[in-house]
Amino acid sequence: MPAALVASGWRNVERAALAGGVVTGLTARMPDPRRHRSRTLAPDLAEVEAVYAELERRVERLARDCRLSTRCCRFQLTGEIPLLTRGEALLAARGVRASGRKALKPHPQGACPLLGPEGRCLIYQRRPFGCRTHFCRAAGGVMPRALVADLIQRLEAVDEKLGGDGSRTLPEAIAAVLD
Ligand code: SF4
Repeated sequence: MPAALVASGWRNVERAALAGGVVTGLTARMPDPRRHRSRTLAPDLAEVEAVYAELERRVERLARDCRLSTRCCRFQLTGEIPLLTRGEALLAARGVRASGRKALKPHPQGACPLLGPEGRCLIYQRRPFGCRTHFCRAAGGVMPRALVADLIQRLEAVDEKLGGDGSRTLPEAIAAVLD
């Protein structure tokens, strides 16, 4: 078990803490929509995509891989729900719209609302950070915090620029920006 584990991106922080983990500071901030009303989102969403791309490079170097088991998408089994910053939620919402949906529908078995009927993520290319850091044991367990702390800080910086109020659970975060 690594000495320092990262728990950012998932709700069940207690589990990581019990495993000696470190919960990152996705602190609560009061939203101020006036701050970004007139700004284009493109640079901020590009930064979120750049963070994801860098994460994928690091994951590849560690020879870790998503096996598409979808276990981490089955919240009812794991008791864990990804947490999203505002930039992640906005990017995921674009994926939701691109899939033809206008709103999130609860999954009939309590899994992620973005787990499609064929057992595939509907927004896989735009899936959030927490879905990419492979908390799942099959992919090697929780990634060491030192490997991703800077990327989490970049997501937090985007969140602040967008007037976000810190991370929210995936269904809440995406529903809030789909309107
Ligand atoms: S967004 Fe996609 S990868 Fe993430 S939990 Fe939902 S279905 Fe799974």
